[in-house]
Amino acid sequence: MSPSKVSTIKWDEFYNIINGQQRTGKDVHHGVNPSTGEKLWPVPIGNQKDVDEAVSVAQKAFESWRNVPIKERKEYLNKFKDVLLQHADDMTELLCAETGKPKQIAELETKGLVGWFSHHDTLDIPEDRVEDDEKTITTRYTPLGVVGAICPWNFPIILSIGKIIPALLTGNTIIVKPSPFTPYTTLKVVELAQEVLPAGVVQAIGGDDYLGPMFTANPGISKISFTGSIATGKKIMAACAQSLKRVTLELGGNDASVVLPDVDIKKTAPELVMGAFQNTGQVCVATKRIYIHKDIYDELLAEMVNFTKTLTVGPPSEGAFLGPIQNQMQYEKVKDYFKDTKEHNYKFAVGDSEVKPGKGFFVQPTIIDNPPDDSRIVQEEPFGPIVPTLPWTDEEDVIKRANATNTGLGACVWGKDLARAESIGKRLEAGSVFINSWEKPTPQAFFGGHKESGIGGEWGGEGLKAYCNAHVMHTYKS
Ligand code: NAD
Repeated sequence: MSPSKVSTIKWDEFYNIINGQQRTGKDVHHGVNPSTGEKLWPVPIGNQKDVDEAVSVAQKAFESWRNVPIKERKEYLNKFKDVLLQHADDMTELLCAETGKPKQIAELETKGLVGWFSHHDTLDIPEDRVEDDEKTITTRYTPLGVVGAICPWNFPIILSIGKIIPALLTGNTIIVKPSPFTPYTTLKVVELAQEVLPAGVVQAIGGDDYLGPMFTANPGISKISFTGSIATGKKIMAACAQSLKRVTLELGGNDASVVLPDVDIKKTAPELVMGAFQNTGQVCVATKRIYIHKDIYDELLAEMVNFTKTLTVGPPSEGAFLGPIQNQMQYEKVKDYFKDTKEHNYKFAVGDSEVKPGKGFFVQPTIIDNPPDDSRIVQEEPFGPIVPTLPWTDEEDVIKRANATNTGLGACVWGKDLARAESIGKRLEAGSVFINSWEKPTPQAFFGGHKESGIGGEWGGEGLKAYCNAHVMHTYKS
């Protein structure tokens, strides 16, 4: 198989990538720079014809790609990584424009993607054998076919690369659908892939709200890997049931941090703040509820307030620590939590009780001091820089409160007594529990949610199986 090679990259022109080619369309839409509210470049809106063509191209490419030995597939992926790295600075600039992320946070995606490639480079597709006197049973893991990757807007590069790498490594082909809010970097990632990968192995189609359902309805797509909200995840699962597509759903969360009374207050306070506010709180595994033991509640909260006051908010060009909310729709949602908190007279420990209108979608990081357990800010996922702190006294009770949610994505426990912290951590109903750290998903670890935070999961050695059928052969001695 030979690479499809597209022409020289232009950083102000964006295309869907189908069959190794750049495709425009008669309909276009625009992203918005969240730091300025200004329109960004036009991008084509993919339609049914584009999806049908991409699926049939991907099915054809699958017939060859599945037979490329894994060693060679890894070589292709390494070349793909190199091409992305060659363009990392341009990609960082583009990511800052489309998301408003500060440069150093954007680079975690544009340069940090190396870690996702290099870890997968160490993995092999598992094969299990059981033998007795009569027979050998071999379980192999075979690719599914064409994968549809439906992605959100908060980490446009890592969350698409995190699907592309394992899908290709296991011998699948993939079509990526970026969020309409952040199409630019994802389309460029896939455009760059064409310089080294055979046509049809990885394609990308961006578009509007009608595009995702075209993916889930297409019988030629064998699996949907979706990252996004719980509400959309439910729609996707229902739509995929029609053709019994495999689904992986990586959804939202309302992650709790439980802080034990023995923590080093000065050290822990900034970490708790980082866990809540990194990427302006727009992280699926951001800390969204902080339960602090009552003996240290006032002192720890005061330290958290002090640290929060040091965080600068502004556009990437000003080198601020926190960027804007990525889009207007989310900005309005976040503002609603401020309104609700103000209307109920809950206490703002830090942050403005009102979000001041301006050119960009900026919100000051805000801590709400001890709102009731049934308040919206405790019960829901704001997906923005606003977090409640809540005192606790009884261990059983705080575990119950932390688990009292329909979600179960991540959780943290903080304490010097590791045995106690781990024993609480074991009882938290969440896919990923961190002890003495805020949540830092990594390609080495399987990642998935309990309860309504998802179905299945991805990454780590186990995550490769999410892109495979189990194929079991029972060989009897003749
Ligand atoms: P979203 O559900 O609104 O959109 C995600 C994607 O789904 C977009 O590409 C969108 O166009 C597409 N989509 C929308 N309706 C669809 C439909 N009916 N059929 C198919 N596709 C459809 O989510 P979002 O606002 O982009 O992302 C924020 C949410 O994602 C938060 O809840 C966050 O917690 C969650 N998230 C989860 C993870 C995780 O790994 N668990 C990671 C990041 C974000």
